[in-house]
Amino acid sequence: IFAKVEMAPRDPILGLNEGFAADTRAEKVNLGVGVYYDDNGKIPLLAAVRQAEKARLEAAPARGYQPIEGPAAYNAAVQNLLFGAGHDLIAAGKVVTAEALGGTGALKIGADFLKQLNPDATVYISDPSWENHRALFQNAGFKVENYPYYDAATRGVDFAAMKASLLGLPAGAIVVLHACCHNPTGADLSESQWGDVVEACRERGLVPFLDIAYQGFADGIEPDAVAVRLFGNSGLQFFVSSSFSKSFSLYGERVGALSIITDGKDESARVLSQLKRVIRTNYSNPPIHGGAIVAAVLNSPELRKMWEDELAGMRDRIREMRSSLVDKLAAEGATQDFSFVTAQRGMFSYTGLTVAQVDALRDDYGIYAVSTGRICLAALNTRNIDYVAKAIAAVTRA
Ligand code: PMP
Repeated sequence: IFAKVEMAPRDPILGLNEGFAADTRAEKVNLGVGVYYDDNGKIPLLAAVRQAEKARLEAAPARGYQPIEGPAAYNAAVQNLLFGAGHDLIAAGKVVTAEALGGTGALKIGADFLKQLNPDATVYISDPSWENHRALFQNAGFKVENYPYYDAATRGVDFAAMKASLLGLPAGAIVVLHACCHNPTGADLSESQWGDVVEACRERGLVPFLDIAYQGFADGIEPDAVAVRLFGNSGLQFFVSSSFSKSFSLYGERVGALSIITDGKDESARVLSQLKRVIRTNYSNPPIHGGAIVAAVLNSPELRKMWEDELAGMRDRIREMRSSLVDKLAAEGATQDFSFVTAQRGMFSYTGLTVAQVDALRDDYGIYAVSTGRICLAALNTRNIDYVAKAIAAVTRA
């Protein structure tokens, strides 16, 4: 049965990690990852998480099956984070939330549910997008196309082209939108541009699917939810996938959620019943630990405050690395203007480095970046940033 199985192409980012692991140079730096590291180059275990875990360990709860959609306390916490506690949508029973296996799992159960609702729809993702969006929706059976997004000339969003494209889509088309901290470019929409996107979705009858994997990494929990809240106040129906991998530094626990915004209580009950069938036939119900920790932190004022401070610490450190990199590149005599790096948001920057420059960074310096020129600012720290700035200045010198 396996004789004709072909070798699948290597995941470009995981392949990069393998190359990095095999590199024996002491000064090597991996900027290809999508993970937040602290200034010591370690993935942090947040103090709020540690406290919640300690309390849980002491309580030693039984490990029965969870509800198919996950625990109510977790799902309510997710909704409050997305829309703000007490939002009308929540009070009106218009938000259906199910815990999911990370942001990826949320996208997957959303995609499988959408396939049942609208099997012939095309899915539109930004050009470029997180590398898993296309394959994930294709594997759910959809045709996937791009809408214009990044403008290499301005290193920002070509919003005129994006808007024109959305306004040309057929009714029922599914549009995947990065709610904040666009991966891989770091280029986000302004609030007024989001307002235009909401209106384009309304005008064309599109199905918005917001992906929020970095809430709190740009400006803060509330400001980073601006797109979700504009959609929330629009009266439209839409999907939101949440990930807590980064914001709680719980990558391997696989904590996320899918929220679906409906027309009202009755619709919510029907939607939830169908979503539960999707989950039940997939992995039955979510694991306990990660969701319990996130719910415990979000639902305790003391732990929540601690988490917000730690999240702000991660956000501020990335910002410092951005401005420090720009300053150091200039000091190293870089001939290009890299000031755009401080305007980009979240963990990533599309640096504009060419494939040849990325290759030179790897071959000559042991610095690994994605071949598209994407680097992770959260992999920089006070010990490696001088070396990285010197290397980038050297490989980009005209
Ligand atoms: N969406 C985007 C835009 C992402 O960048 C990521 C993770 N890198 C995800 C979804 C998936 O998140 P998770 O690891 O929680 O599955």
